[in-house]
Amino acid sequence: MRLYNTMSRAKEVFEPRGDSVTMYVCGVTPYDTTHLGHARTYVAFDVLQRYLTFLGLTVRYVQNVTDVDDPLLARAKELGTDYRALAEQHIRSFLVDLEELNVHRPAVYVRATEAVPHMLPIIRTLIESQMAYVNDGNVYFRASRFPGFGAMARLDRAGMLEALRDIGESPDDPGKEEPLDFRLWQAARPGEPTWESPWGPGRPGWHIECSTMALRHLGTQIDIHGGGADLIFPHHCCEIAQSESATGRSPFVRYWAHVGLVAMDGEKMSKSRGNLAFVRDLLPIHGADAVRHYLLGYPYREPFEYFEWDLAAAAGRWERIRAACEGPTDGSLTGNGRRLRDGALAALDDDLSTPLAVASISELSEVVRRDQMGGDRAALRELLGLLGFRIGA
Ligand SMILES: [Zn+2]
Repeated sequence: MRLYNTMSRAKEVFEPRGDSVTMYVCGVTPYDTTHLGHARTYVAFDVLQRYLTFLGLTVRYVQNVTDVDDPLLARAKELGTDYRALAEQHIRSFLVDLEELNVHRPAVYVRATEAVPHMLPIIRTLIESQMAYVNDGNVYFRASRFPGFGAMARLDRAGMLEALRDIGESPDDPGKEEPLDFRLWQAARPGEPTWESPWGPGRPGWHIECSTMALRHLGTQIDIHGGGADLIFPHHCCEIAQSESATGRSPFVRYWAHVGLVAMDGEKMSKSRGNLAFVRDLLPIHGADAVRHYLLGYPYREPFEYFEWDLAAAAGRWERIRAACEGPTDGSLTGNGRRLRDGALAALDDDLSTPLAVASISELSEVVRRDQMGGDRAALRELLGLLGFRIGA
C-alpha cells in the first residue's frame, strides 16, 4: 500500500520488512473523557491495523497511556484527588468507549508508570554520551547537538520555541543550557509522585516515556509510529532525537503517520477551551457504527470541524448502508459488485483513503438494495468488516 510519511511529506510505498509490522501509537493522558478527536485518531489506526492484517501482515501494535504528566497532575490537584485514582477512572472509561467503537485493543497497552525503571538506563546512556546533562536534579536533552533536531516539524526556531512553551516546557527555564533543550527527568516537586534515580528523586519527562516504551516493546527501529497531528512537535521530534541518540540507529521510525485534529466552534477541540464533543454522549444517540461512518468520511490526515448536523446526516447515510446488509448473502459477486469492491480496496491501498472507500461502499449498498444479489451483499458486509463496522462480516 501507499502511506503518507510525515517525515518526507509524501506518499511512499509501504515496504514491510517481513511478515510482520510494528506499530506504536501515542495514547492518551487520562485526565479527561474521550472526545471525538481521540476517537478519530484511534479509529484511524484501527482501520490501518485491520487493513495491514487484511494484506496478510501480522501487526504488533503498542499503545501507551501517559499516566504521569503535567496535565494529569494538575487536574488531580484541582480536583483534590489522587492522580492514580483519576488516571484509573479515565483509563477505564477510555477503554470502554473504544471498545464500544469496536476499536481493537493493541497487543501491548502499557502505562508510563510501569516503564519508569526502563527509562533510567536510556537516560544514563544519553548523559554518558554527552547528549544530556544533569542540572539540580533535572536531566535535560541537548537538542542542539542532535543533527536536524525538529526536522520533521519544518518549523523555524521561533515556531519550535513557541510549541515548547505551549506544553509547559519553558524555553526560559534557567536550568537549561539552551532554550530548545527539553527535560528527560524532572526533579521532585512538592506533592508530586516521585521515583528514585541516580540524579535524585523525580519523575520522567513525557517524551522519554514513549521512546522507552517503543524501544522496549518494538525494538530499535519501528515501522509505523503515529498519533495526533499535534504531537509532531515537540513530542515526536523529541522522541526521534532521544531514541536515535540512545541506540545509534537511524531512522528510529520508518513511516510517521499523523491524524488531523477535530475542531469545534472554529477551534481545535480541547479541554482548556471547553469545546468538546464526548464519545460517551454521541454513541447513545447515533450508535457506534454511525459515528465510525462519520469519522471515516473524512481523509484521516486532514483536520475537519465537527457539526452536529453533519454527524446526523452521516448517520442517515449510514442507515441506508446498514439496511442493505440485511438479507441473504449467498450467490456470486456480480460485475457491478466486483467493480465497487475493487474500488473500495484500491482506495484503502492509497494512503487509507476511507472517504473514497466509503463512497464505493455506499454505491455498492445502493446496488444491493436495487438488485438484491446475495453475493454483492456478502461483499458489502465483508468491506464493512474490514473497516471495523460491527455489522460487517
Ligand atoms: Zn507519545
